Amino acid sequence: MPDATQTLRPLAVCVASFLAMSLALGHPASSDAALDRDGQPKTTVFGCFPGADGILTGGPVPVATSAADDASFGNLPFTTLLSSGPSSNRIDLVFVGDGFQSAQLGSYATVVEQRWLTMKATEPYLSYLTYFNVHRVDVTSIDSGVDNDPTPGILKNTALDSGFWCQGIERLICANTAKAQNAASSAPDWDQILLAANSTKYGGAGYITEDVCTFSAFNTSSLQVALHELGHSFGNLADEYDYADGSSYSGPEVPEPNVSIQTQAAMESSGTKWAPWIGISLPVVGTHGAFQGARYYQFGIRRPTSNSLMRSLGLPFNGPCLEQMIVEIHKATKMLDAASSPLNSTVEQGTVITATTVEPVSHALTKEWSLNGVVIPGAIGISIDTAVLAFAGPSASLRLKLIDPTTQVRNEALRASWLTETYTWTIVPAACVADLNENGLVDSVDLGLLLGSWGTGLHDLNSDGTTNAADLSILLGAWGACP
Ligand SMILES: [Zn+2]
Repeated sequence: MPDATQTLRPLAVCVASFLAMSLALGHPASSDAALDRDGQPKTTVFGCFPGADGILTGGPVPVATSAADDASFGNLPFTTLLSSGPSSNRIDLVFVGDGFQSAQLGSYATVVEQRWLTMKATEPYLSYLTYFNVHRVDVTSIDSGVDNDPTPGILKNTALDSGFWCQGIERLICANTAKAQNAASSAPDWDQILLAANSTKYGGAGYITEDVCTFSAFNTSSLQVALHELGHSFGNLADEYDYADGSSYSGPEVPEPNVSIQTQAAMESSGTKWAPWIGISLPVVGTHGAFQGARYYQFGIRRPTSNSLMRSLGLPFNGPCLEQMIVEIHKATKMLDAASSPLNSTVEQGTVITATTVEPVSHALTKEWSLNGVVIPGAIGISIDTAVLAFAGPSASLRLKLIDPTTQVRNEALRASWLTETYTWTIVPAACVADLNENGLVDSVDLGLLLGSWGTGLHDLNSDGTTNAADLSILLGAWGACP
């Protein structure tokens, strides 16, 4: 159904107003809040579509905020496509559909599966699949199709009010984001919503504040729009295209990590922005430098590579953009799901502590255990047997440091801030666990009992499932009278 975001105007006026809008909005001042998540009277939707030369054009467009008053669907059916772990520590992507009648929900399910297969073969989702859950919510509409498809004036009664020609822009698919969020709430959790509009017409959009991307379900190129818009909405990335209009920016440094007023030499000197990437070459996007033309200005703002997903569809992210997407994944999650002993707890020596880590698909996390600040040689696994730790005094501090060593992040300050986590436990000597016959002494009788049960799991002092040298070590360490 049409709403405030889908007011129709005659085509000639639409084109004129879009051109006016490009001029008015296309060169936002650095104080422009286009990427600010904080409240604006209007929300911002990104519509970035290829021009004749394949380079994107468009940019941020202000649209009315969706009203939430009638946005209640109750519990809609949902299917989980990927379950990697608890939603509290995962990024939950939720597909919702609009313009699908109940008899069309099968084709909706099929096309969502196809789009997800494409998406998960794309970085950073490919390497960090284990950090995501994915769900599909089945939303039923009264009519088939969406508004203004293919031309203005064709109106459909759909659950999420999707439509082309939003703000007079043919390819811009707006929707009622409050309704989309309500529908997505039928899934166990949602962090980012992908709205599949029942159409073959090319289009899409990205709502920054609302974490909603729209795309045309049956147009194979439209998912590329969604992947680009996720760069805006999830990665807070700037567009790397310009309007080729001779415009020149002369304001202060711009905030987004993938655009800068600095030349390559200035950036190498300052060490800021994407300095660690300069000179690095990646497949498809090529060698990183500082290329003139970005963020809608032809001059005065630079981008990291000649071309990439924030400039053209169908390309990968360049290094700084992929780095920022990975940082955002880590900001939203922890590398540790759980530990066998509660974090920050006091643990009796002899306990085996095992960490349940969230391992990326492409590489392993680095684990480093240390005792009282000293790294324990060879302790690089998810488990540590505290029985073998030697320390003086009543207690010791055991620390696990997790680091994501990915080469897709080159900014070591970002790695230290967001790709490094530490967890600690306090280790205290066990009560006399080695006094097997409980006579107040750890002596040759206990030694005989332990050796007699070697390999069986009986007298397994450190509870690691077997009776072995680690248990013998505990016993010999406790030799004598029990405290
Ligand atoms: Zn864009």
